[in-house]
Amino acid sequence: MGDYYHLTCYDCREELCLGKAVLRDEEGRSFPRQFEAFIPGSHWVGGEDPAPIVGRFLLLHRGHEIRVMTDPFPELLYSDLDSVFRYVGDEISFKDYVNGPVEPEPDTEAEWQSFPTAEAERLWRKLHAPWSLESTLEDGRRGFTARDVERLERQYLAAAPSPTKLAK
Ligand SMILES: [Zn+2]
Repeated sequence: MGDYYHLTCYDCREELCLGKAVLRDEEGRSFPRQFEAFIPGSHWVGGEDPAPIVGRFLLLHRGHEIRVMTDPFPELLYSDLDSVFRYVGDEISFKDYVNGPVEPEPDTEAEWQSFPTAEAERLWRKLHAPWSLESTLEDGRRGFTARDVERLERQYLAAAPSPTKLAK
């Protein structure tokens, strides 16, 4: 476990390591805190300009669940990381990544129409959470508790077949 951060798409399970969040370059000069990948000449992106690499990542994963996460979180989610994640710069070179195909082609109208309704609802709930979820903690802060799980199960699982029924 290190102090590394990754740009991760949880829909495609593709990851770009951004390095550590640092304050100084190799000569010890200070500059605003940033990830190692954005330090000019950084080995994290093979000395390449990181902008096209990150830009390609964002283009390929537009509309997807993208997060900047540190090491322990993906390790909690997946027991066998290497078999489910594609590591940009490892499984595919940065040059091939930047020059590879973009599929599907960007189409804002089609992307908007095919955006999953459940995802749109989740984003709506997130944006409205401070007003729509009651406080569940004594000090007035909002927290996700077993009561929230019960409420979500009533709301979303009551009408749908359970996973065990689907498996039969
Ligand atoms: Zn993706």
